[in-house]
Amino acid sequence: MSKTSGTPAPTCPICGRPSAEETRPFCSRRCADVDLARWLGGVYRVETDERAEENFDG
Ligand SMILES: [Zn+2]
Repeated sequence: MSKTSGTPAPTCPICGRPSAEETRPFCSRRCADVDLARWLGGVYRVETDERAEENFDG
């Protein structure tokens, strides 16, 4: 019996463990919390052209 082939199991982006269905894509609620905290803390920075423009004004 072959279950799935070609579909890699998702892993927690925080610690790299197999993610749990309840807290996908995280492995646990704790990791989900960590991720959220990072967002709130501004660690996760989306690339914007703000910086590029700053350089432009130089
Ligand atoms: Zn995790």
